[in-house]
Amino acid sequence: MTTIDLDELLENLAQCRRCGICRNAVYEDKGFDGVCPVWKNSAGFETSFMRGRIQVALALLDGRLEKTEENAESLFSCTLCGNCTSICAAEFDPAKCLESVREVLNEIPNAVRDTIAKKILENNNPYVDENKTRRDWVKEVGFDIPGTGEVLYFTGCTAGLKLPETAKSTAKVLNAAGVNFAVLEEEPCCGSVMIRTGMVEEAKKNAEKALEMIAKSGAKKIVVTCAGCLKTLREDYSERFGLDVPEVLHMVEYLKPLIESGKLKLKKSSEIKKITWHDPCHLGRALGVYEEPRDILKAIPGVELVEMETNREAAMCCGSGGGLRSYDGNLAKKIASDRIQDAEAIDADILATACPFCEHNLKDGANRIGSKIRVVDILDLISKQLQ
Ligand code: SF4
Ligand code: SF4
Repeated sequence: MTTIDLDELLENLAQCRRCGICRNAVYEDKGFDGVCPVWKNSAGFETSFMRGRIQVALALLDGRLEKTEENAESLFSCTLCGNCTSICAAEFDPAKCLESVREVLNEIPNAVRDTIAKKILENNNPYVDENKTRRDWVKEVGFDIPGTGEVLYFTGCTAGLKLPETAKSTAKVLNAAGVNFAVLEEEPCCGSVMIRTGMVEEAKKNAEKALEMIAKSGAKKIVVTCAGCLKTLREDYSERFGLDVPEVLHMVEYLKPLIESGKLKLKKSSEIKKITWHDPCHLGRALGVYEEPRDILKAIPGVELVEMETNREAAMCCGSGGGLRSYDGNLAKKIASDRIQDAEAIDADILATACPFCEHNLKDGANRIGSKIRVVDILDLISKQLQ
């Protein structure tokens, strides 16, 4: 059962002028080129950028192409980064349409997508069987974190299970700011990857379960450190599923006023020199949160913030989103290496971001090319600069 209006979707897809700007456009005013990170790292076939994907989608939808996993492959070799949407001059949002196409065509078999959804529905996360281990980091912060409270830190699967340092840093920063906060006893996945890969009915069931657990915690405000959790909890739960969600803020939004009001004081860093900011697609292009993290970084005394050639609405993707890291890990890491090279090109020492999923992939991208750039989460930086 899909929530998508098929006629409207077809009308939107028909808006594509086949101009090809989304393949490799030149932003003349900004002096750089390269839009689709997948096309840039592929053999150059038409189906490796949005114009071709749209034609494949139309052919699958109207029956000219048989609905097979192989024929639908190009619909999934896309990070849904939205870079094509940023530059497309036609009256539609191509990346959003592709997400809808995945939902409408979700009867087409796809082993990777189905495995991820199954794991999330069975284990409450896409990574491990024992979901309760995602709270293990709490034992290492040196103070108690309750399971109930008005401010809830929703950790997210990647910070909880893959990069617990970010979760610990966040706890340390909230504690230093005098915030009493909670972490769910057994937090579930927000379901972002299920929505992006078209498993929307399953994602809705997951969202209802997650929201029930959030409601039991007494949360009036949710803070997150993952850009994917932010978009999902803030936007998809209410707009897509009609659920009543408490206010959801990314920590960069929550922290900025605390730092500006002096409630949270940061000391000079001798270690951090030239730092650059990677805009996570779900934080930047999707929700327009561009300046808060930059203002926080600039508030660390002694830090020089430098911008990569592509930034804000034109920022290149880290390569991990839209399910691509699971569908084609090598391609995802190649895209991440490109982003690392963007940071190397401006001689940055550190590349900071605010999404554990981006961080994870960017670290792999840096290792892949032997880069010396340090990839860090902004919360890890801030936690080390607390006065
Ligand atoms: S999606 Fe937009 S930019 Fe890409 S070919 Fe179609 S009209 Fe052009
Ligand atoms: S959403 Fe990103 S990866 Fe997908 S086609 Fe558009 S630019 Fe390429």
